[in-house]
Amino acid sequence: MNQHIVIAIDGTSASGKSTNARMVARELGYIHVDTGAMYRTLAWYCLHKKVDLDDVKAVSALCRRWKTSLECTGNQIHLLVDGYFPDKEIRTSEVTEAVSHIAAFQKVRDWMKAKQRECAKFGNLVMEGRDIGTNVFPESEFKFYLDACITERSKRRAADGVQENLAARDQRDSQRASAPLMVALGAMIVNTSLLTPQESSAKIIAEIRKRLADNEQRQLAKAQM
Ligand code: C5P
Repeated sequence: MNQHIVIAIDGTSASGKSTNARMVARELGYIHVDTGAMYRTLAWYCLHKKVDLDDVKAVSALCRRWKTSLECTGNQIHLLVDGYFPDKEIRTSEVTEAVSHIAAFQKVRDWMKAKQRECAKFGNLVMEGRDIGTNVFPESEFKFYLDACITERSKRRAADGVQENLAARDQRDSQRASAPLMVALGAMIVNTSLLTPQESSAKIIAEIRKRLADNEQRQLAKAQM
C-alpha cells in the first residue's frame, strides 16, 4: 500500500489552485502535480491527431493507445506523450475550450485516475485538480477546496492575457455525471477572493501542519496503549 502523503487541492477554474499548490509543495518539499495539465495534454493530442472531440469512442480509443510516461523533474511531475511534454501547446484557447468536453468521458477519467494514482510512487504529493479529494485520492486526510468570486477569477484570467468563459467551464465540470467538481468530505474551504497567494497558501500550510501534528499525537497515543 502507498504510504506517501497526498495533499488534495480541488476547486473552480482560476481560484488559485496552481499558485497555491506550487507554494505549498515548495514549502513542504513535496512534489507538485497539475492534473489539469494531464487532461489538457489529452485534449491537445486529440486536436493534433484530428480526433472528433464529441466522439466518445474515438477519444477513449486514443486514450487507450497513446504512448505516455510520467516524468518527475525538480519538484514537478509531467505527463509526456511520445516522450514530449506540450507545456505551451496545452495553454491555447482551443485546448481550454476542448478540455472539459473530453474530461466528462468516463473512460478518460478512469485512465487519468489510474495515472494520477501512479504519481504517488515518486513521493509525497500536492495534487491539484477537480476530483482529487473526492475520486482520485479519497483516502487523503489533507483535502482543500479553493474558490473565489467569478469577478475576481475573471480578472485573474484577464491579467494572464486569457479570455474565456469561466462560468461555462465550471458548469460543465460541476454538472458532469462522472466525478463532478464538488467539495470533498472533510475538505477545508478556502475562499481566495480577498487573499494574496501568500495568505491563502499560509492558511493551507498551517492546516496541513496541524493535521500532521494531530496524526502524530494519535499514533503516539496508540503506541502507548
Ligand atoms: O486546472 P485546469 O484549468 O488546467 O483544468 C482543465 C480542465 O481539466 C478542467 O476544466 C476540467 O474539465 C479538467 N479536469 C478535470 N479533473 C481534474 C483536473 C482537470 O476534469 N482533476
